Amino acid sequence: MKTVLVTGGAGYIGSHACKALRDAGMIPVTYDDLSTGWADAVKFGPLEVGDITDTKRLDAIFKTYAPDAVMHFAACSDIAESVRDPGKYWHNIPGGTQAVAEAALKAGCTKFVLSSTCSVYGDQDGVILKETSTIAPNNAYGEAKRAAEEFLEGRAAAEGMRSVILRYFNVAGADEDAEVGEWHRPETHLVPIILDVAEGRRDAVRIYGTDYATPDGSCVRDYVHVTDIADAHMQGLDWLKANGGVRTFNLGTGTGFSVRSVIAEAEAITRKEIPVLEDARRPGDAASLVSGGDRARQELGWSPDRSTLPRMIKDAWRWHQTGDYAK
Ligand code: UDP
Repeated sequence: MKTVLVTGGAGYIGSHACKALRDAGMIPVTYDDLSTGWADAVKFGPLEVGDITDTKRLDAIFKTYAPDAVMHFAACSDIAESVRDPGKYWHNIPGGTQAVAEAALKAGCTKFVLSSTCSVYGDQDGVILKETSTIAPNNAYGEAKRAAEEFLEGRAAAEGMRSVILRYFNVAGADEDAEVGEWHRPETHLVPIILDVAEGRRDAVRIYGTDYATPDGSCVRDYVHVTDIADAHMQGLDWLKANGGVRTFNLGTGTGFSVRSVIAEAEAITRKEIPVLEDARRPGDAASLVSGGDRARQELGWSPDRSTLPRMIKDAWRWHQTGDYAK
């Protein structure tokens, strides 16, 4: 059985990737400092608690488990926080990626899948974003992720590292069996906040910005089901088996939904009234982020069939109602 080191495996997306690895007969070893992840989310393989910048500990982990590949999820991911505290993001994202990739290389592990983000494109006024679009991050999170990509494209590649870089658009939904799901404290993401309001855990959803140049004035995002994101990681591993070098893929569906339309869909699915408060724009937000191009479909064989808005909200709602979130 092959072992894959999953940094951030206790987090939202990492825990879904661990399930996909386990289902494919592999052993996902989670390496996580539990700063934003949860030990309870590590259900599919061992947990090692540690910091991604702790090079000694990383060396020991690579020695113990001799992983065949790395999926590097562990990272700070709050855009507004990155605007307030960019130093934290520079230390954690390119710094953490470098430390993990160098430990991997030292151990002879040369397959690396990096979680990246559509934030590397910044705010491009409604342009449909392809992998070849201009890189112009408008917050420290996007800048730091781009620097991590560059590390893999440059120095790590020169030393023999093969990488798949996955630029996620907006990840939503939950495992269809509700074994794992989205659980951040504090929560900043739209879908779980909407569902908290539907459940009466919060009073209202704040709509950050109602004066954007979008059809209804609220921000437009391309939402992708977390299990489809996990699938792309598995296909990324296959790509790395067959190819060398570094390849970047957007993980988006090509369709954007406004904040208001996500709330409306959630009202229909939960059959609850979801009060809203119109608020100021959130620093670092782009008006619209929608993926274009079919590179992941064509080259990875990715088909994000679960990524319809009703399906994502239904699966997230099931996690809220019946998963660990409900406990
Ligand atoms: N958003 C909002 N209210 C919230 C949380 C998010 O209006 O309570 C908006 C946010 O401004 C963005 C979209 O919803 O336009 C998605 O935000 P999220 O934080 O889920 O993901 P991000 O785009 O920051 O990765």
